[in-house]
Amino acid sequence: MNEKSSQPDPPLQVFSIDSGEPRGALAADPPLAPTDEFLAELESDSLKLESATPQEILKWAVDRFAPKFTMATAFGPEGMTIIHMLAEIAPDTPVFNLETGYQFKETLDLRERVKQRYGIEVEYKLPDTTVAEYEAMHGGPLYETNPNQCCFDRKLRVLHESAKGWHAWASAIRRDQSPDRAKAPIVGWDKKFQLVKVSPLANWTKKDVWSLITKHDIPYNPLHDQGYPSVGCQPCTRAVKVGEDERAGRWAGFQKTECGLHSS
Ligand code: SF4
Repeated sequence: MNEKSSQPDPPLQVFSIDSGEPRGALAADPPLAPTDEFLAELESDSLKLESATPQEILKWAVDRFAPKFTMATAFGPEGMTIIHMLAEIAPDTPVFNLETGYQFKETLDLRERVKQRYGIEVEYKLPDTTVAEYEAMHGGPLYETNPNQCCFDRKLRVLHESAKGWHAWASAIRRDQSPDRAKAPIVGWDKKFQLVKVSPLANWTKKDVWSLITKHDIPYNPLHDQGYPSVGCQPCTRAVKVGEDERAGRWAGFQKTECGLHSS
């Protein structure tokens, strides 16, 4: 993963969707509403963006929604790829991380590496209780007995609050990750969080992501080299064995494979 290529990137193509109307956002604009007209506009834009590169999709999203455009990241390989692209296209884009208090040190260190490499300061969004307070409230770690409630309290609730006021956010999902994600549009309305979801990597493969990481020496979580293809909170993530599913190491022992952030 550390082998670098000396090939320069091709120049960024200008991908424009000219609707004839001036578009964009102002900081004081109210939240967007999913009217039939707006949903049809998103569907049309999404179809046109199917042939665009991730960089072109991000550029379109920034032009269309900034300064009401943001990104949540757990610092996975896909998220790091988007951060790298944003650093070139729109480094002022606000990026945040749900800091549950249970993340790996390697993940927290990666936030510092992003700051050093790109000057992007990823903001931590915190639950309303510390880990000590939360565990005292529940008589011990809730992730051991009820991870759904723990994820709801320490991730989903925080994400709902963090999504308020934005018009759009970037998602790092790829269509080949799961049957549910296979249906994701490039641009669509996020019903759960009530804003536009832009998925620039929807058409990329895991190989595409790692090729870019290798080519540009993009920082990534060292746990990926230690048997952790997917990294979440430390108590709920274990290394996977050869032949196991990528997400087998998440919430092992529970009927749970997603934290609920991406499911509709
Ligand atoms: S991944 Fe585990 S520790 Fe993190 S919020 Fe969910 S249940 Fe809690």
